[in-house]
Amino acid sequence: MTYDPSNIFGKILRGEIPAHKVYEDETALVMMDIFPQSRGHTLVIPKAVSRNLLDADPAALAAVIPLVQKVAKAVKSATNADGIRLAQFNEATAGQTVFHLHFHIIPAYEGTALAPHAGGKADDAELAALASEIAAQL
Ligand code: 5GP
Repeated sequence: MTYDPSNIFGKILRGEIPAHKVYEDETALVMMDIFPQSRGHTLVIPKAVSRNLLDADPAALAAVIPLVQKVAKAVKSATNADGIRLAQFNEATAGQTVFHLHFHIIPAYEGTALAPHAGGKADDAELAALASEIAAQL
């Protein structure tokens, strides 16, 4: 399967639709997931074009993983989460719904189950506040 630039993250990377951005540099964009599985669910999106891990350039992966770690630490600090789940899906059967490579950073809270993947939409004001709280920890 080939990369289709009309996917929603492609549109966000090109500035065609808005996002609650946490961080951006020449290699990646970090933003809040609008259908979060828990409070603080954040996405790291490499700018290098690939559908997912399977067709990604290894050099692009090597460049983005340190950022994934940095953002995971910032999310944990900003949310006071008890743990962090890192998730990444490859093709629809495996749970992928947006076909531009991305890494999910999902805070886990003691005694609270994660919401379903790509479930209910979060409040925009809450996402904006979380984005700036996480950015402040980077
Ligand atoms: P996937 O299933 O491809 O691993 O994850 C796609 C993620 O993108 C889901 O967690 C879903 O909630 C999120 N998502 C879908 N549409 C949008 C959107 O328009 N903006 C943002 N920020 N996240 C989205």
